[in-house]
Amino acid sequence: MSPQTNLVLLGSTGSIGVQTLDVVARLCKVGRPFRVVALAAGRNSRLLAEQIESARPEVVSLADERAAEDVRRRFPGLRVLAGEDGLVALASLDEVDVVVNAVVGAAGLPATLAALARGRTLALANKESLVTGGDLVRDALGAGGGRILPIDSEHSALLQCLDAGRRADVDRLVLTASGGPFLDLGRADRATATARDALRHPTWSMGKRITIDSATLVNKAFEVIEAHYLFDVPYERIDAVIHPASILHSLVQFSDGSLIAQAAAHDMRIPIQYALTYPERVSTGLPQLDLARVGRLEFRPVDREAFPAFGTVLAAAHAGGTATAAVNAADEVLVARFLEGEIPFGGLDRGLEATLAAWARERADGDVPATLDSIRSTDHWARAFASGLTL
Ligand code: MG
Repeated sequence: MSPQTNLVLLGSTGSIGVQTLDVVARLCKVGRPFRVVALAAGRNSRLLAEQIESARPEVVSLADERAAEDVRRRFPGLRVLAGEDGLVALASLDEVDVVVNAVVGAAGLPATLAALARGRTLALANKESLVTGGDLVRDALGAGGGRILPIDSEHSALLQCLDAGRRADVDRLVLTASGGPFLDLGRADRATATARDALRHPTWSMGKRITIDSATLVNKAFEVIEAHYLFDVPYERIDAVIHPASILHSLVQFSDGSLIAQAAAHDMRIPIQYALTYPERVSTGLPQLDLARVGRLEFRPVDREAFPAFGTVLAAAHAGGTATAAVNAADEVLVARFLEGEIPFGGLDRGLEATLAAWARERADGDVPATLDSIRSTDHWARAFASGLTL
């Protein structure tokens, strides 16, 4: 029997959070015991209540006081926190081995910094931590002595492929992208597509925001930034390629021309489990890939004209400072507006471009280099800006 791993799960009621608890249960069954010390959720106090009953954490946190009150009433003896302070408190708890950060959006950054400052292993699904505050995350990692294990299928693949050679011999990282539900639509049809169309992702079943971000390729551009910070590879050496079936999750090209790929079934529990057992591999009955049934593999270049948001996000990455925080915050607002039916799909592309242009005009000077305060103030500014845009 392995020693017990003490785990904190932030974002427990989202898609990744629910699947993490499934993986934890599977690992416990095969003699890899985990203790869930703390859970943090957004506003879904009902699902959190079920998770509290089965996982028995010592402390929980919710996005706001109202949701927290609801849980306090149901579990009078339980410590219940709220808000960003609650998330940071959970990420900073003593005697924790792994913090899983599966919070959605920029709200995940302070908890990431807190976990790394305490030297924890951070299993990171919150890509916005790296998108909005990559330099700060890198500093916290250096200062605290912790480590990051990615919970993103592409980056889990890259981590595995990088083991095939020396870092000095890495030529390029190649991220694969499914291309989302609108890959084969003409630009005019895509521009007028609805939330219902976009939520039908062809290969992955994911949360709503990431599904819309996959349809615009914003998610893929975020993943380029994520890879840049996780593996310390310059942007010029990170490519994205459309691979509609998403069988190869990403590849590393080495200097001799060898491309090493990782393939697996479309199941986020596989990268989640790898982050929790790294570098070991454990058999817990997760789905296996049947290559004979896959048939053929198709690849295409990213069509930057058809998916302009991909370039907008990468332009923000090159601008540096708080540009990516601005684009991320605007994207969070624009995706919510799109899901509400307020703006058409094409409004996502236009809104991001307008936000980056306004950032360059109004914010760029004061916001470089980024600090947690400047990221927060840019985040607020961009949310207000994107909310007010007519698209
Ligand atoms: Mg991904």
